[in-house]
Amino acid sequence: MRNLIALFACSLAISTAGANDPPAAASSGAKAAAKPAAKPITADTIKLAALAASKPAAAPLAKEAASQALSEADAEAELSAKIAARLAVMRANQAARLAAAAKARKASVSRREAIVAITQAPPARPFHSEHWSYEGETGPANWGKINSAWSKCGTGTRQSPIDLRDGMKVDLEQITFDYKPSGFSVVDNGHTVQVTVGGGNFITVQNRSYELQQFHFHRPSEERVNGKGFEMVVHMHHKDPEGRLAVLAVLLERGKQNNMIQTVWNNLPLEKLDVVNPNVVLDVAEVLPQRRDYFTFMGSLTTPPCNEGVLWLVMKQPMQASPAQMALFSRMYPLNARPIQASSGRMIKESN
Ligand SMILES: [Zn+2]
Repeated sequence: MRNLIALFACSLAISTAGANDPPAAASSGAKAAAKPAAKPITADTIKLAALAASKPAAAPLAKEAASQALSEADAEAELSAKIAARLAVMRANQAARLAAAAKARKASVSRREAIVAITQAPPARPFHSEHWSYEGETGPANWGKINSAWSKCGTGTRQSPIDLRDGMKVDLEQITFDYKPSGFSVVDNGHTVQVTVGGGNFITVQNRSYELQQFHFHRPSEERVNGKGFEMVVHMHHKDPEGRLAVLAVLLERGKQNNMIQTVWNNLPLEKLDVVNPNVVLDVAEVLPQRRDYFTFMGSLTTPPCNEGVLWLVMKQPMQASPAQMALFSRMYPLNARPIQASSGRMIKESN
């Protein structure tokens, strides 16, 4: 029995050290090591025991020896079976442990990959400021980075203003103006002087009617014509019933006083964002040049959010304003013009 226990212990040691060994090699190795010390139970022993048992008169001692030899053989067989079962269980456990370790390694790798993916992903930057200007950190070069809703200012390919050159000279249809003296209000919105006009002032172009909403001023002009800039420009924003925008630009050069502009200057509010509602009417047509030739192209708002899809109509003939009228505006806004944007192969059409 002691030998069998040694055999069991030895089997355990081997199976722990190398669970991947083939079962036959492990158990035969154990048996080979244990056998020399074990009491041999041979066929002869069993035969002798059987012989002794078959001769009852011979000797009771022989019968006892035979019976002991048989019971030891049974015990050894039983223990071998137990060892085999135990080894099977241990191998199964070992395999389960190995599988679990492999799974954990795999999970750890995918966790690492997930962490790498998270750290490498572009940071979600909710940025939102309403403050923009014409110079420095909040200037035109950074408008697209100030507010995520203004990204077009940085990435758009149909931005305004542009330098008007190499236009396709064609017989452009005349713009039909239907302007009339109207009530108005004036505000200094922090970026320009803006005039909101009462309803009923329309332009019609390309079979579409747009109603005048507001007009405002830039200094110097945002547009250029063959590289030439102007002292100021008036932008007149029109909208059609579907919300499409058409901006009509009238360039201003130094000359005689303009009555409509003077009416606006006469009613400037004393404080920024205060709205003045004068008791007089404004005849917007007074700002239109006599010649109605124009340039046209698709562009954008020239201030944040820089929305595109805006139909631009730039009158070719500049209007005049007096040096005093120019000087007055420049005291409020010496520079409120967005720089020229890439035309990116846009078609520019102009009246012949
Ligand atoms: Zn403008």
